[in-house]
Amino acid sequence: MKTDVILIGAGIMSATLGTLLKELAPDWNITVLEKLSKAGEESSNAWNNAGTGHAALCELNYTSEKPDGSVDITKAVNVNEQFQVSMQFWSYLVNNNLIGKPQEFIRPLPHISMVQGDKNVDFLKRRFKALTSNPLFEGMEFSEDSKTLEEWMPLIMQERTSSEPIAATKIDSGTDLNFGALTTKLFDQLHNKNVDIQYNHSVENLKQISDGSWELKVKNDSGQVERRTAKFVFIGGGGGSIHLLQKSGIPEGKRIGGFPVSGMFMVCNNPFVTEKHHAKVYGKAKVGAPPMSVPHLDTRYINNKKALLFGPFAGFSPKFLKTGSMFDLITSVKPDNVLTMLAAGAKEMPLTKYLIQQVMSSKEQRMNELREFIPNAKSEDWDLVVAGQRVQVIKDTEEGGKGTLQFGTEVVTAEDGSIAALLGASPGASTAVHVMLDVLNRCFPEQIKEWEPKIKEIVPSYGLSLMENPDLLKDIHASTEQTLELREREPEKVLS
Ligand SMILES: Cc1cc2nc3c(=O)[nH]c(=O)nc-3n(C[C@H](O)[C@H](O)[C@H](O)COP(=O)(O)OP(=O)(O)OC[C@H]3O[C@@H](n4cnc5c(N)ncnc54)[C@H](O)[C@@H]3O)c2cc1C
Repeated sequence: MKTDVILIGAGIMSATLGTLLKELAPDWNITVLEKLSKAGEESSNAWNNAGTGHAALCELNYTSEKPDGSVDITKAVNVNEQFQVSMQFWSYLVNNNLIGKPQEFIRPLPHISMVQGDKNVDFLKRRFKALTSNPLFEGMEFSEDSKTLEEWMPLIMQERTSSEPIAATKIDSGTDLNFGALTTKLFDQLHNKNVDIQYNHSVENLKQISDGSWELKVKNDSGQVERRTAKFVFIGGGGGSIHLLQKSGIPEGKRIGGFPVSGMFMVCNNPFVTEKHHAKVYGKAKVGAPPMSVPHLDTRYINNKKALLFGPFAGFSPKFLKTGSMFDLITSVKPDNVLTMLAAGAKEMPLTKYLIQQVMSSKEQRMNELREFIPNAKSEDWDLVVAGQRVQVIKDTEEGGKGTLQFGTEVVTAEDGSIAALLGASPGASTAVHVMLDVLNRCFPEQIKEWEPKIKEIVPSYGLSLMENPDLLKDIHASTEQTLELREREPEKVLS
């Protein structure tokens, strides 16, 4: 079975790349191979991630303090610019009636950063100053005033007895996203455009053949082995991508390993409590905790129902996918990456210890962390749910040396552009469009010039910095806000 493009995995990344390719090269044949029975069931599923539209509006780990005391906002600016690309892409799809109603996957929701203690309050104030000097963060407010904070986050402020100073920043242009619903919508429209989507098809192996295309060994829904070939392959297997990249044998995939971090959320089962909160409130990560375990209390909209989640609690599991195997970590150690992995193992001992301790935490210990947000939280109102797996990339870097743990997203492409893999999980789904445009740039250098006018129709700011073009930024904010219906409505009632 021959095709132009094979996308491995039916998560948000393959969905985004497939959609871009169908817009840019409608005649190309695309096949999607997914080992599960539906799209968006792993990390992209709404219950498996936090649904934050990461635009660096509330995540304190995207800004750092420099030795001279100033606040470095470079990462926050990059993440925000990348999120604006996603917003434009989704607006294009809504405007072209390709993905239905926006409120089925995106909702406006204030993004709040909250800190306690003199030192943290001082940092937040300086961070606020640094961010608001940039047009991307216009509309952000800062307050230390308890009355204002009560208005912004009543559930967090009520019955708060601690005398520690508390401060917050709030910005109303934040969003909550259901990436699972978006993934399903994207695959539905791909199906309507004759993309061949094969569920219950697991890619077991792949090799490049003499004409430069790739031959995939696939176990199909009846357990038989099929051979499929494609000129271009995208490995969008989420946590499963590392194994497939290793099997491809491309030199760019050597000396790379993966470090799995599991996640858990607490979900509120009391509608009266859920009703009292309407924001995403991000706090500061504990000392020694990895950046992905920054605690946050989030209003979520999942399947048109309002929910309240707290977490994520990071933990350790050797699986690379939630539906993966206990042998995933061990089988990812290969002769070419064993030294890198051993070096990371030695370096990251405290992190591994931290994650194992987290897994062993009792519900009451987790409730105590929640009580730093909601002082009067009652155990019976909260249940634990298992979230998705994140596989952080381990590689040798100049700055970090051998076996350095990476917290970002990595695109690995072969020199001939015939295959690309996406590794890592942060900032994740929010920046999928920017990352997939990067894949197109790297793998299709001959076509990209010809595609440019269409890309600019889809993403008007393509190739431009919005921070440096404040008028364009204003136009884009206004049009995406209108198309994606992001003007704050009355907070909705909990339906259960
Ligand atoms: C706890 C947690 C919180 C997060 N919070 C956020 C957030 O707030 N905001 C945000 O933007 N991002 C967040 N992320 C990150 C985001 O969820 C991921 O970046 C994104 O979903 C990854 O999409 P993907 O398509 O690469 O992978 P996935 O959605 O995992 O999809 C990969 C697919 O590939 C399939 N597959 C794997 N191997 C094979 C194979 N061999 N053959 C066939 N199919 C295969 C899998 O079954 C799966 O369906 C979070 C992640 C986690 C775990």
